[in-house]
Order: sequence, then C-alpha cells, then structure tokens
Amino acid sequence: MDCKETQRCISLFLEEKMDRRTEQKFVEHVRSCRECMEELTIEYLFNIAIERLENAEVFDVEKELEEKLNRAVNRKKVHCQLKAGFFVVASMIMCVLLLF
Ligand SMILES: [Zn+2]
Repeated sequence: MDCKETQRCISLFLEEKMDRRTEQKFVEHVRSCRECMEELTIEYLFNIAIERLENAEVFDVEKELEEKLNRAVNRKKVHCQLKAGFFVVASMIMCVLLLF
C-alpha cells in the first residue's frame, strides 16, 4: 500500500468499514510512514473532536487512536511516530476548540 492509497483509506479505517486484509496493510503502512500517521491523527482528531465536543467529554486523542490501531493489528507497543505526529497536531486541538 502506498501513501496515496493509505491516505485515501483513512476515513474507511476510522469508520471501521475496511476489510481485514486491507486494514492490516493500512496499519502496517501508517506505523512505518510518518506522513500518513500524521494524516491519520489529524483526521481522527477532527472526527472525534466534533463528536466529543457535542457531548462535552474529555478525551485523549493519542491514547484512543493508539488503541484503535492496536485493535486492528493487536500490537501493544506505542509507536514513537505517533507521539511525534501527535505533537505536531496538538495545536490543532486548540484550533478545533476555538472553532466550535
Ligand atoms: Zn505513507
């Protein structure tokens, strides 16, 4: 799976509408590709931020996304790329909060 295909599949993954084999390839790719991981984190952030703000819930994006990825491939190790990617988009949480 290349970057283009991976990024096209992000919304499918987040909606859990992806078939098992594609999901494996997808997670494999985002685990090894910083660019796609950031893309996934950003889309996930927007998805759940809107949802959660409606319910005024406190949320931990990094943890939840990691859990989602782990559910897909059953790997427990926190990936350093997720942390790096999250740092980049952390400021976006503020933007989302300000926008809504
Ligand atoms: Zn990629």
